[in-house]
Amino acid sequence: MGSSSSSHPLVPYGWDEGWESEFAPYAEQGFLPGRVVRVDRGLCDVVTPAGTVRADTEFVVPRDPMKVVCTGDWVAVDPEGADPRYVRTLLPRRTAFVRSTSSKRSEGQILAANVDHAIVAVSLAVEVDLGRVERFLALAWESGAQPVVVLTKADLVPDAVTLAHLVQDVEATAPGVPVLGVSAVHGGGLDVLLALVGGRTSVLLGQSGAGKSTLANALHGEDVMEVHAARDVDGKGRHTTTTRNLLALPGGGVLIDTPGLRGVGLWDAETGVGQVFSEIEELGRECRFHDCAHESEPGCAVLGAVESGALSVRRLESYRKLMRENQWIVAKTDQRVRAELRKEWKRRGAEGKAAMEVKRGRVR
Ligand code: GDP
Ligand code: ZN
Repeated sequence: MGSSSSSHPLVPYGWDEGWESEFAPYAEQGFLPGRVVRVDRGLCDVVTPAGTVRADTEFVVPRDPMKVVCTGDWVAVDPEGADPRYVRTLLPRRTAFVRSTSSKRSEGQILAANVDHAIVAVSLAVEVDLGRVERFLALAWESGAQPVVVLTKADLVPDAVTLAHLVQDVEATAPGVPVLGVSAVHGGGLDVLLALVGGRTSVLLGQSGAGKSTLANALHGEDVMEVHAARDVDGKGRHTTTTRNLLALPGGGVLIDTPGLRGVGLWDAETGVGQVFSEIEELGRECRFHDCAHESEPGCAVLGAVESGALSVRRLESYRKLMRENQWIVAKTDQRVRAELRKEWKRRGAEGKAAMEVKRGRVR
């Protein structure tokens, strides 16, 4: 292994000084550093300075499903000669994408690790659903990755002025998030996107049909098929024919595309939701009551902003909806929270009914 990380063969896969120092103790023990490009049934493909190797994850399988090795993880594997090879250590993750499983006993499922940018693809071919954009942004923030909104199919927008307006609309809904229009047809905006995400690890999020695959191809250049046909040889001399879920981009940077990442749900994303709606959270700090629910409390700064027109009703409702949804997901795993929520809803329901009766003049 070279002493300077700039010459390290894993640099195209995101290796940097941080990983180098995290890995140092394992290098001393003779292990190879590597990045997981694919996982299936207890085995994974890992790119290492010695090529792509297949390794067993048996030694690092924890009880906690959130700590299972996943695409994007940095690991230490056995050196050449070991048969079979094992993943010996999972380096601490910088970021992680997690989704709730739909099963009754809800558990988080880890989808991708060490992602720097979450590219949220939103099609301009149809009316932009801001609520949906907010949902993806919440997920992105929660993971720890920096979200970037890419408005795809910009070629379908009649003129630059209209495009600028569309970008501004989304910017207003996404504080702290770069928003850019991109077209895979005429290539507009791709250079900006590459400059933004180049050299780091990204994932593509967005609805089906949003243009994610097209965008991935554009980022890879012409020869995605060529890129997919891994020519590396595994420890036993067989060709690795499986598809990777993590690819180094020719212009620098890494793109992760795991099947599970498409159509992700929220998972304990309260912080993420808060970041998407940072202006509402900020307003909330000015409410008279510190635990104000911004429903009907006196001295509520959030409701005040809605009244003055500074905050749109749509945005407040979107915030409430995502918060509620998130509470449900958390509640699924936590009986105590669930019981509390039930009590709360009962109380609210009773209050709501009482309020309705007052309105109808039945109760004085
Ligand atoms: P995915 O489901 O998010 O992966 O979306 P795809 O990449 O499969 O794209 C969905 C459809 O949108 C396909 O018919 C693409 O040809 C089309 N599409 C993607 N990008 C563009 C673009 O920049 N301009 C236009 N006009 N169509 C696009
Ligand atoms: Zn309030």
